[in-house]
Amino acid sequence: MARRTRLSHADYTVGWICALSLEMAAAKLMLDEVHENLSSQPNDHNSYYFGNIGQHNIVLACLPHGEYGIASAATVATQLKSSFHSIRFGLMVGIGGGVPSEGDIRLGDVVVSRPTGAHGGVVQYDYGKALNEGVFQRTGMLNRPPQILLTSLNKVETNHMTEGSRVPRFLDDIKRKIPNYAANFARPTQADCLYMTGYDHAIPSSETCDGCDKTMDVQRANRKDNNPVIHYGVIASGNQVVKNSHLRDNLGRELGASCVEMEAAGLMNNYPCLVVRGICDYADSHKNKEWQRYAAAAAAAYTKELLLETPAIHIDQAQTVQEILYDSDIHRVEASEDEDGTSEDEDEESEEEESDGEILESRGNASSQRRDKCYNCWRYGHWRNQCPDLTCDRCGSLGHYATTCTRQQGICYKCGTWGHFAETCWIS
Ligand SMILES: [Zn+2]
Ligand SMILES: [Zn+2]
Ligand SMILES: [Zn+2]
Ligand SMILES: [Zn+2]
Repeated sequence: MARRTRLSHADYTVGWICALSLEMAAAKLMLDEVHENLSSQPNDHNSYYFGNIGQHNIVLACLPHGEYGIASAATVATQLKSSFHSIRFGLMVGIGGGVPSEGDIRLGDVVVSRPTGAHGGVVQYDYGKALNEGVFQRTGMLNRPPQILLTSLNKVETNHMTEGSRVPRFLDDIKRKIPNYAANFARPTQADCLYMTGYDHAIPSSETCDGCDKTMDVQRANRKDNNPVIHYGVIASGNQVVKNSHLRDNLGRELGASCVEMEAAGLMNNYPCLVVRGICDYADSHKNKEWQRYAAAAAAAYTKELLLETPAIHIDQAQTVQEILYDSDIHRVEASEDEDGTSEDEDEESEEEESDGEILESRGNASSQRRDKCYNCWRYGHWRNQCPDLTCDRCGSLGHYATTCTRQQGICYKCGTWGHFAETCWIS
């Protein structure tokens, strides 16, 4: 066997995080080449695999066995960041539950987090405060995925409209790579059954739906093929497994979520990343493990396609994760100074942030490095959110972010029609 490539910690620019070992296995199958392992720093307890896809050197990290959820994901990201200083962005790739009320989502499809006018693509639905009369207000805003990935994401979406997706080919390659084990990641023969909301799994102890009433199945048109369809939208992240069709539908209605999962919210604010989820169940009481490996492979295959559309040269120019976080801290301080809080609670919050700001500013003065570099246009003298070249993802005009977009009417940048914006466009 040929000797494996050996690189140094500083050569790895992409951090790919998985929560389950089956997701890690799917990720490894998408590498063009597996590299030699590197030794870990003494305080880093993550397990890593190394490799490349095209020109991108990737470090794969997995949550410790048996640990799930937002806090564990945050710990893994923190350790990854401290061991690999050149990492430019993260990818959280794995499986999740589909919310079929928000589009024709089927098992084996892939949901990718994309910011909307209202939020950054991932919403932590169980974090917030309960108001009077059972109203729950979600507080705290999660960051957007890095711009470089949003750009490639748009490119992949456009390619799919005219040339089709490369995902089926990457899934097919698995047969060649591991002929004896490829069946583990093949599309299950078990039917993709979506039961009506409120119809619960008949035999709770049974792993299959053999005992469930097939007449309670939602009738859906056949697709022309079984290839995964890619959906772009909101991912709802929380600390509990969702196994309830009513809760699932509520998350769809309230947040516009297409997918529910358990880790992404732990990453968004301390590790800028894009979240890619293969749909393995419908987050209801019928959920089982049958589709997990195929769904994980579909998500990993999409991620491979996305990376191949991301020019490595742009990655080298991009800010590292640590630089992005430094800037976004400063932005948060700026935003809180501008805030015109009226309620008592908001005032308290902005005071807290201002005291953080003093610490940051003094750190900034001590360093001789100029920090006011815009990572949209790479010029100095302004921050990204004030960049004149910034395009709004909502209305398509220049000079502001989608999150600060106030336009009431305009032209949708997706379909070019007047009167609505991309977030409500018929082109999904
Ligand atoms: Zn069932
Ligand atoms: Zn700029
Ligand atoms: Zn706008
Ligand atoms: Zn439109």
